[in-house]
Amino acid sequence: MPDRYDVVIIGAGPGGYVAAIRAAQLGLKTACIECRASLGGTCLNIGCIPSKALLQSSEKFVEAGHALAEHGVKVGEVGLDLGVMMGRKDKVVTTLTRGVEFLFRKNKVDWLKGKGRIVAPGRLAVTGSDGTGREVEATSIIISTGSESTRLPGIDIDEKRIVSSTGALSLDRVPERLTVIGAGYIGLELGSVWQRLGAKVTVIEVLDHIVPNMDGELGTALQRVLTRSGLDFKLGTKVVGIREANDGLSLELDGAERQTLAADVVLVAIGRRPYTEGLGLESVSVALDQQGRVVVDDGFATNVPGIYAIGDVGPRSPRSARPRRNSTRQRSPTAPASSRSPPIRAPAPTAIPKGSSRSSPRARPTACSASTSSAPMPEP
Ligand SMILES: Cc1cc2nc3c(=O)[nH]c(=O)nc-3n(C[C@H](O)[C@H](O)[C@H](O)COP(=O)(O)OP(=O)(O)OC[C@H]3O[C@@H](n4cnc5c(N)ncnc54)[C@H](O)[C@@H]3O)c2cc1C
Repeated sequence: MPDRYDVVIIGAGPGGYVAAIRAAQLGLKTACIECRASLGGTCLNIGCIPSKALLQSSEKFVEAGHALAEHGVKVGEVGLDLGVMMGRKDKVVTTLTRGVEFLFRKNKVDWLKGKGRIVAPGRLAVTGSDGTGREVEATSIIISTGSESTRLPGIDIDEKRIVSSTGALSLDRVPERLTVIGAGYIGLELGSVWQRLGAKVTVIEVLDHIVPNMDGELGTALQRVLTRSGLDFKLGTKVVGIREANDGLSLELDGAERQTLAADVVLVAIGRRPYTEGLGLESVSVALDQQGRVVVDDGFATNVPGIYAIGDVGPRSPRSARPRRNSTRQRSPTAPASSRSPPIRAPAPTAIPKGSSRSSPRARPTACSASTSSAPMPEP
């Protein structure tokens, strides 16, 4: 007999782990399936947290090298120990991901280690890294499988010289020349880190402004600050190819004019796309929108009763999503899915821990492997 849960969540990123802990606190028998070796998803392992740790360390490096002297604070020659800096970043990540593990244990959330797949509404298969499998049953399933970096067609990421944000968080030396493709917040954040540590950083953006999804005035002000700190921008410019050159890589650019740009490392940061590969969504006919995101209503319910989706795998704003034309059993845009799928209910009465709120988890919240063919989701 498969184990039976009230709620099973697939993916333990900020969407999934928060949902899991909250559901358990509300008295629901809860499990969370995660295939990564540590909990916390993209954000804690290869996203927000390591990126912010390096931003903080690189800021201190710049401060020690330049800003302190202005205050009359003399320091000796400032040097960089990149290994120590990376070690600190890894420690921050480990502390936080273990913290989530602790919270799972404390709140009695079962971590089902492996890759989850929905085999039928209310039924999931979990395949461990050693290939062993098991099935579990759930009254409600929450898809929280996040997103992965969007690839540039024809450009292979080796995570050493042509890197995604994941590789850019773990370079083993400061590149002399770093080119960032994409002026979203991820490219700018990581570009800033390496510029502060000594790289000559050029940001290429196909649009005529940076941080495309943010307020225009904010983008202009941010570009001014970043230019002052040393980043170069080539806006309205498209990367049409990257090839090996004698002294590194050569990027072919198409903008106001055709030109080439030499680089030692190229960071591809053109956005993130929802990760739904191998989830079995087709077999249960969960509707996706044109960007490959799971379509949900205001209560995060999909078109299939008992299946919900949160975080990067769903739309930024549930209302903005429209079902993809080729998916079957789509919900009419006028008929909200919630009319079929009631919100997940906790058994009453439930002891709510002191200080916690009763609001439902609405965390906005990557993936075990491989890529999908879905369309890119622009970086915020
Ligand atoms: C460099 C960088 C910096 C960022 N900085 C910020 C920031 O400052 N602020 C911010 O708000 N956001 C930031 N983000 C974005 C943020 O990381 C994501 O929005 C957030 O992690 C999404 O959370 P999620 O729970 O939806 O998915 P994720 O965090 O992507 O977690 C999904 C989890 O599901 C697991 N999974 C996927 N498929 C399966 C499966 N079939 N079975 C089992 N497990 C599966 C994955 O292994 C992963 O652990 C940043 C991202 C990056 C890359």
